[in-house]
Amino acid sequence: MAVPTGKVSKARRDKRRSNVWKLSVPGVVKCSNCGALRMPHRVCPECGMYNGRVVVAAEEEK
Ligand SMILES: [Zn+2]
Repeated sequence: MAVPTGKVSKARRDKRRSNVWKLSVPGVVKCSNCGALRMPHRVCPECGMYNGRVVVAAEEEK
């Protein structure tokens, strides 16, 4: 596993440490109704919509 320092080029080392190859975190999508960020396959916490219809009554501001 360990590789001598001089064997790994600066470009290779820095690319490994950079963000270019890291996937963006899944699990956050935009609500198609209100545009708020929500988790997929879950009722939108902002408007209570799911699959195009209101599942949970939209809560009023407290
Ligand atoms: Zn929404």
